[in-house]
Amino acid sequence: MTDTQPTPLLSELLSSADGIVHGVTRRVAGMGVADGNVGSTAPRDPEDAWQMRIAWCKAIGVDPERIVRTDQIHSNQVFVVREEHAGMGRRREHPMAAVADSTITQAVNVPLMTLAADCLPLLMYDPAQRGIAAVHAGWRGTVIDIAGETVRAMQREFGTDPNDLLAYLGPSIGGCCNEVGPEVTAAWREIASDLGPLAELAVTKPGVKEHFDVPRANALLLQRAGVKAEHIEFSNHCTKCDTEHWFSHRGQGAATGRQAGVIMLTGSVT
Ligand SMILES: [Zn+2]
Repeated sequence: MTDTQPTPLLSELLSSADGIVHGVTRRVAGMGVADGNVGSTAPRDPEDAWQMRIAWCKAIGVDPERIVRTDQIHSNQVFVVREEHAGMGRRREHPMAAVADSTITQAVNVPLMTLAADCLPLLMYDPAQRGIAAVHAGWRGTVIDIAGETVRAMQREFGTDPNDLLAYLGPSIGGCCNEVGPEVTAAWREIASDLGPLAELAVTKPGVKEHFDVPRANALLLQRAGVKAEHIEFSNHCTKCDTEHWFSHRGQGAATGRQAGVIMLTGSVT
């Protein structure tokens, strides 16, 4: 345990809406044994990760015993979380709710938690139909449009109108640092081919190799799925530029910790 009272990163957009709590955990020097890490897979300490989850959940305002986690494999699978899944995957020894990189729910008081360390944690809220999403989008999930798949799943499952959706793109490796191979930008240009020149907003070439801007790409995919540009907020934190405050796979190596994006519907069922 730690005496440090952690301060999660909040979205202004999501904070302006009633009916949810949310937050993104950070790297905090000296917090627990691994600077506030919430990832529990080896070589990380699962008991410390659980204690950190408890501390961060307290700061965000959710019950750690009811966290829902899924096995993230860079897929575009969307899992619909229901009340009976509450607590699945909350600790290392508990089975995950599913194999999926996107979770959506209309269940209240069921916190969705997505983990990342350079990949993008994407949190969404439909205040009209009362539905939320927590999504893990690295470049692999991005080029198979996990963001769009999530919007479409919310439309199908909840009756969501994409015009109502609010989206927060949390800290991730930015276009500044995300040097990629040609197969990445080729896959992006293919999935985004109907966007025409807009697709190039997510690609830069500051040197010999191209850089892929995962947050920008996901914003374009969300807009293509019907989300309004003014309903999309960027955190503008690059995890690799600022390894003091964020865990970064590229910046700190594969054994680094994980930050979490958390979102939960509050209140009673209507
Ligand atoms: Zn950067």
